[in-house]
Amino acid sequence: MKVANNFTLRVMREGKIVREETLGGNLPEMRAGDPSELADLRCVPSIKTGFCIYCGSTNQLSREHVVPYALGGTLTITEGSCEVCRKKTHEFETDVLTGPMRMVRYLQNLPSSTKHRSVPKTVELFVKLGEMQQQIELPIEKAPIFLDFYEFGEPKYLEAASRGTSLDVCSVVTGSYGQDPGHVISELSTKGMTIVGAPRRPVAFARMIAKIAYCFAFVQGHIRKLENPSELIDAFMENPNLIGRFVGSIPPPFVKYEGVSIRVAIKALASEGIAYAEVQLFAASGAPTYIVVLGRIRDGEVLS
Ligand SMILES: [Zn+2]
Repeated sequence: MKVANNFTLRVMREGKIVREETLGGNLPEMRAGDPSELADLRCVPSIKTGFCIYCGSTNQLSREHVVPYALGGTLTITEGSCEVCRKKTHEFETDVLTGPMRMVRYLQNLPSSTKHRSVPKTVELFVKLGEMQQQIELPIEKAPIFLDFYEFGEPKYLEAASRGTSLDVCSVVTGSYGQDPGHVISELSTKGMTIVGAPRRPVAFARMIAKIAYCFAFVQGHIRKLENPSELIDAFMENPNLIGRFVGSIPPPFVKYEGVSIRVAIKALASEGIAYAEVQLFAASGAPTYIVVLGRIRDGEVLS
């Protein structure tokens, strides 16, 4: 598919054009990863705790999903979250999983507790036909859907002598899902297209990534090997202004894992004695990989 030379994509937020670019320009570098190196999350057995994995309470426990059910997560911790903590995780996960993410979830046939009833049937676009700017609505199946991913700096925890806590958003990588924008352009014979974007929520996104990392490390039995896991729990549950200490991202080239939806791996920085997780959502489309520092490993413990 050839994209017209003068085709411009504008991303507009809160009534302002915040980015304007010519399609077909530089794409982020991408390399293929080998899916056979990954543990299949679907094959990891669920566990039962009988206490809240965040606060230790034994009151009103419910099943906790490691990866949100809405992203296709089936790995669970039975009786793993109390009602107070469930409400907190639900709040930041909902912030992330709505908006364009809701449409991508629908297009990728991911599960939905409301059977995708809240997904809009149409997507609003502003297109330029001749000299005229027109607002049109396309059925969701025929529209391009853009999903933003954040590139963060390094977790501040790893910066020697740094007590920094802020989450630095270095750039935004926009993933294109749904219909190929080039196809839509040629179908409509338009010269420009403006998409009304969703508000950005990098902190909620980082909290969700940290939660996935913590839950997965818990299931794998690694959390009890850490000196002070409550530091990380505190950052994603109670004090999101501390989340930049723990969450960062790996710079490009991005890695694409064919046929893999979500990738989580627990690793150690052996020289520093620090455990961390790699988390990648939409791994098949080569979305950025995030790192979550889990904490310092106790003397004498090993991760494997
Ligand atoms: Zn709790």
